Amino acid sequence: MPSNLHKALLTWYQHHKRKLPWRGESDAYRILLSEMLLQQTRVEQAIPYYQRFLQQFPNLETLAQASQEDVLKAWQGCGYYARARNLHKLAQQLVFAGQALPCSSVELLALPGIGPYTAAAVASMAFGEPVATVDGNVRRVLSRLFAWEKPSPKQVQETADTLMAQLVNRRGDRDTPGNWNQALMELGATVCTPKNPSCGACPVAPFCQGKNHPERYPAAQKRLQKSLEMVALVLQGPAGVHLELRQGPVLGGLWGVPMEEDPGALERLLARFGLDKAEPVGAVRHDFTHRKLNIQVYKAPYEAKENPRQRPLSRLDRKILKLVETKSLRLL
Ligand code: SF4
Repeated sequence: MPSNLHKALLTWYQHHKRKLPWRGESDAYRILLSEMLLQQTRVEQAIPYYQRFLQQFPNLETLAQASQEDVLKAWQGCGYYARARNLHKLAQQLVFAGQALPCSSVELLALPGIGPYTAAAVASMAFGEPVATVDGNVRRVLSRLFAWEKPSPKQVQETADTLMAQLVNRRGDRDTPGNWNQALMELGATVCTPKNPSCGACPVAPFCQGKNHPERYPAAQKRLQKSLEMVALVLQGPAGVHLELRQGPVLGGLWGVPMEEDPGALERLLARFGLDKAEPVGAVRHDFTHRKLNIQVYKAPYEAKENPRQRPLSRLDRKILKLVETKSLRLL
């Protein structure tokens, strides 16, 4: 069965894969960039970022020589900025040591921001290493193919590895590990979708044990989204606004308005800037994957000089400044 499954999937992939700018790419830097983008960004949104980023930083060397601020500016609006910081850091680490991107998944894994999935994706697509990439699409396709109710990460990884090993034993010209990995992910992204999978048009339907009830697999897991109450203080004067360099894993390295978590957030912010009061402007909501932010926005006059157009700002901060702009001065 697996041999026929491989054949059916690879033939389908050959004829039905979407045209994407990184498809068929063999340059490891370009593959790495696309994989870093796709970690948390949808394909349609990632394409313009991929193209613009490569125009500005066409290779590891140009990226290594850029300032972090320029790199973050190129990533601005794409979210999860740790990806851009890590890409920049690894480019500097390799280029300053006179090295290229390593060709094995084990060595790639040792670089900043590269996890098992990205290491396997780059190693299999750029260097033909027979390692399986397991993302959400692959998990869903395998759990339906084998009718797993609740696949454990170990079960999925072991099965993907077994299928990969069988593929390697019967490898032909087009049956590269990169193609197999991409074919499985492409099937999950376009045919075996989370809702309403197109089983009637699926190339592996004859092998699929879950095709009669695909919605059962994998069983839904509850995602906990923590809600945080925050206060943002927009300090503005005739010459600009006050911006600070953010810290932390999510928005670290970007600039933004002063913000604190409640309770007592407004009092702490006022005390920090020696102010007595601030004027309420409105509320902004912003969702991260595991966090939902409810932000009460205040403004106060202040001698501030930053021009928000000249700093890499997060989408969240642009939302806050936009709200203030619509209610008062032009800031953006
Ligand atoms: S037959 Fe349906 S459930 Fe099975 S892999 Fe294909 S699309 Fe997914």
